[in-house]
Amino acid sequence: MRLTGRVAIITGASSGFGRATAVRFAQEGASLVLGDLDGDGGRETLALVEHAGGAAELVVGDVATADVAAALVARALERFALLDMLVNNAGIAPPEPQRSWDAPEESWDRVLRVNLKSVYLCCRAVIPEMIRHGSGAIVNVASIAATRAVGGASYAAAKGGILSYTRFVSRELAPQGIRINCVSPGYMRTPMSTGERYGLTEAQQDARMEHFAQRVPMRRSGAAGDIADAIVYLASNEAGYVTGQELIVDGGYTVG
Ligand code: NAD
Repeated sequence: MRLTGRVAIITGASSGFGRATAVRFAQEGASLVLGDLDGDGGRETLALVEHAGGAAELVVGDVATADVAAALVARALERFALLDMLVNNAGIAPPEPQRSWDAPEESWDRVLRVNLKSVYLCCRAVIPEMIRHGSGAIVNVASIAATRAVGGASYAAAKGGILSYTRFVSRELAPQGIRINCVSPGYMRTPMSTGERYGLTEAQQDARMEHFAQRVPMRRSGAAGDIADAIVYLASNEAGYVTGQELIVDGGYTVG
């Protein structure tokens, strides 16, 4: 097991990549504090983690607030007396693709707040504890939208911000024994991308994902487990000399 005896906060753990990562971390021996707005989904993830033999706590709340970021850290220390990993995964996509100058200001603010400010707030909350401990690993979930014109302007700006933030902070944290990297997923199959939240039927979701898959050299959209595997690697000691990097997991989409 690659994460035995370690403790992680995972945000956005009630669905998609966050849920898959929680289960994989538990299988690798980590204990967890899960943060998400969705309490029902969070409790389902808790059950999956326990089924995988792991121990976890759930904090229900908005991870783009300083209070919830602090509560995640407090819960980890109360229950496990340790905190040495953070996965900043919570995120939202803009509701509909539209021209950037037509999108409402509130939508821009919300996408930047949830996708980018949450990363800053959760890092700010965990870093003092990791410094005290003398080591730590942070993995931020960005997107190929950080470097490609996909996903909408506000989303791309937020994800590009995560990449820049990760690179900058890596230089500050490296002397403290703390690594920070990001994973950039491509076209992946999760509730964010299938269209199920917009009421698409199973068949319509399959058609939508097939359409995406045709743009990908591997001719398939990715699975949540593909991202969980990349996050486990970056959090583990196998990536002990890797910091400030973006690991793109996209079936070859961005190659050309
Ligand atoms: P998802 O919608 O399945 O899961 C996102 C989770 O984040 C949900 O459980 C949601 O409740 C939670 N969340 C949203 N806002 C929150 C907030 N303010 N506080 C706490 N929790 C909050 O989506 P996913 O596909 O698993 O996405 C996870 C991450 O991956 C996101 O950052 C997303 O931008 C990124 N991503 C997804 C894809 C894709 O194709 N699915 C591609 C690139 C990047």
